[in-house]
Amino acid sequence: MANGFIDKARITVRAGNGGNGAVAFHREKYVAAGGPDGGDGGNGGSIILQVDDNMSTLMDFRYKRKYVATNGMDGQGGRRTGKDGQSLIIKVPRGTLVRHAETGEIIKDMSGSEPYVLCKGGKGGWGNQHFATPTRQVPRFAKAGLPGESLDVFLELKLLADVGLVGFPNVGKSTLLSVVSKAHPKIANYHFTTLYPNLGVVYVDEGVSFVMADIPGIIEGASEGAGLGHDFLRHIDRCRLLVHLVDVSGSEGRDPIEDFDTINAELQQYSADLASRPQIVVANKTDLLMDREKLDAFRAHVEELGYTFMEMSAATHQGTRELVQRIAAELSELPPVIVYEPEYVPRPPQIDTSEPLEITREGDTWLVDGPWLQRLMANVNFSDYESRMYFDKMLRQSGLFDRLEEMGIQDGHIVSLYNLEFEYQR
Ligand code: GDP
Ligand code: MG
Repeated sequence: MANGFIDKARITVRAGNGGNGAVAFHREKYVAAGGPDGGDGGNGGSIILQVDDNMSTLMDFRYKRKYVATNGMDGQGGRRTGKDGQSLIIKVPRGTLVRHAETGEIIKDMSGSEPYVLCKGGKGGWGNQHFATPTRQVPRFAKAGLPGESLDVFLELKLLADVGLVGFPNVGKSTLLSVVSKAHPKIANYHFTTLYPNLGVVYVDEGVSFVMADIPGIIEGASEGAGLGHDFLRHIDRCRLLVHLVDVSGSEGRDPIEDFDTINAELQQYSADLASRPQIVVANKTDLLMDREKLDAFRAHVEELGYTFMEMSAATHQGTRELVQRIAAELSELPPVIVYEPEYVPRPPQIDTSEPLEITREGDTWLVDGPWLQRLMANVNFSDYESRMYFDKMLRQSGLFDRLEEMGIQDGHIVSLYNLEFEYQR
């Protein structure tokens, strides 16, 4: 969009890999055989999301699409652990929905202030210091670090506001916002002055305030994507209350009842849920009122449908204070702003186990290595029973145990997979 309001973006994020563990032996004068002292690899940095209230669009993501955290450093002799990779903090505007790029499922609604770890860095591999046992005093191996998680995500901004202004273009929505808050939306006497959403904080009384959103005016056919407006309706999806402005001056030859019904039909087509949101209907531009009877008929129509009706002149500020009070009173009875629950459940990665693993024997220890095993282990949560069962199944499926048998593994030998070791039992 030419005006710089970007509210959708697709990015790729990748956490850092863990560093490798070191193989080293203690060397000191007069000490004959030093023990293993290879340090561990550092952990990879994570990708962390954090809300930044100075941001109001996703524009930054248009120019930078790839975000990578740094890798952990390799371990060294003398039990020195490699330095951890630095986490990368990605700042997003409040209200950013993070979706899985392929499935569209919501991973996280960034509307709170707590940081969110989107991709965890890979764990560093163990150095050989960990692998000395009474029967294995000289472990000449260490473990590789595990890869960091990576994801393609779709960012979508859905503003956080208590109140959303709706109505035809030019009815006075931006004027109202500028009168009741410190926001400075563009105001002019032509249609489509407002090209992107504006937020304003409205202070009512001490400790009482709410956020009001002004979006570009909805026009007929907007819910089918015609003209401006359609794309912006989602910015009021979370609103607790809608304030529906109608121009009753008759200055543009419009019929208030028709306008009102048209906008509600548009809302209904976009989302039944949004259409059923509580509404305060405001007859604006009463300073120019031509036809009192028309206004009365409009009022009767609105009240018959069960909506609150108010009169106002945003230009002369007449009725704006009453409107603000009324909004605050209704909000105090309404549930809080909608926060979306995550839909995405991390699935075990699609892993092709057909590629043979590398097996090395060190005494009674069998070291197993390979790219898919690395990937599998980086994604399995070993404190979760089901994940462990899945891991076990994949290992069996791959034929690893059959190969170990062929190569002569015995009960009681150690199978060593990165930072996991277990005793082999047939
Ligand atoms: P929006 O498109 O709904 O945001 O409408 P604007 O706030 O940009 O207003 C459109 C035009 O109507 C501007 O020229 C405003 O000055 C004018 N306007 C807004 N409210 C009133 C009002 O209460 N009385 C009069 N006379 N003009 C108004
Ligand atoms: Mg406007």
